[in-house]
Amino acid sequence: MPHLTSNLEDAVSRRVQSAIKELLENKHLFQSIQIDEKEFDAVMKEAIEFHKIEVARVQPNVKLDGTPYLNNVIENLKKDRDQLLYSNWYFFLESSPPRGAKPVDFKDLPSLQLPSVRVSCVSRQCKGTLQPHNSGFIGLRSHFELQSFDLIRPGQPFQIFSLPYQCQNCKEEPLVFLVKRDNLKLTLVGRSKFPEVSVPSYIPEAQSKFYKNAIIANQTNFVLAAALYLRTVVEQYFYSVIPDEQKKAIAGNPTGDELADLYAKTLPENFPSNFPSLKKAYSDLSVILHSGKENDEVKKDLKGAKAKATKVKAKKTNPKTVVKEVKTAIQKKEPMVIAIAKKGKK
Ligand SMILES: [Zn+2]
Repeated sequence: MPHLTSNLEDAVSRRVQSAIKELLENKHLFQSIQIDEKEFDAVMKEAIEFHKIEVARVQPNVKLDGTPYLNNVIENLKKDRDQLLYSNWYFFLESSPPRGAKPVDFKDLPSLQLPSVRVSCVSRQCKGTLQPHNSGFIGLRSHFELQSFDLIRPGQPFQIFSLPYQCQNCKEEPLVFLVKRDNLKLTLVGRSKFPEVSVPSYIPEAQSKFYKNAIIANQTNFVLAAALYLRTVVEQYFYSVIPDEQKKAIAGNPTGDELADLYAKTLPENFPSNFPSLKKAYSDLSVILHSGKENDEVKKDLKGAKAKATKVKAKKTNPKTVVKEVKTAIQKKEPMVIAIAKKGKK
């Protein structure tokens, strides 16, 4: 029943292409996209219903539900789905479509066009801005265009693809992604150029290096390192705005918490107390560092935590969430804090 599988083939093809696109556009190094067999339940159900209508048209008195015949059709459709999902996948580039049609009775996933993507380009011309990138690169030697390293493991595909792209704005050097496929899980395992991290202009020049490192560490799942860099951003900022005589009044080197208290005093009196402040951000980051736990470990803790109260507490100290919150506080709220503080001083 080839017509039953053709919709399924389309659905799997579209999903694999969208997974690659999402991986390259939105995921960072060593992050993954997982495709699930269940995602194709609806299209399979639709194919079965359509088949039942077709049969009823020819033989109106035959009821297919529950018959061995229909069960067989369903089983075959599942086999076709698995064949499409667990065969080796192959891609071709926009610049070089495959020659010839696919063979009759070919049940694997047909070769798919590698989708175009919008990703940052770090060339001198593009300066880290998001630019459309087409798959392939004009001027590459043809047999080096797209590589796929496939392990022979029938039914349990393992492949590593190297996927070249060309920025449509500057067309400078190729951007090559490495993508690992383990069964239905796609992981971004490499890229030839690291995406530019843009630092907002209100982050002081002296702290921008640490801010940049914090974002990179966070994107690559080194959450503890991200917390440490962000805390350094905040601490150095404290140092730069607290008047010298106040710092000197503390014997020895002031601790971060002492600095946070002094910083809070630099805010104007009319500063709203419910406003997210760097003092709170600093203490949240310290909690992460003292817990010494990365994101996954906290997730495991959450799974193990039975008491509701413990769960709520654990959720609050999820490092990834705190880093995100602090980043947002610095990005969105703190410029206002800084602006208000400056106003108050005048
Ligand atoms: Zn470019």
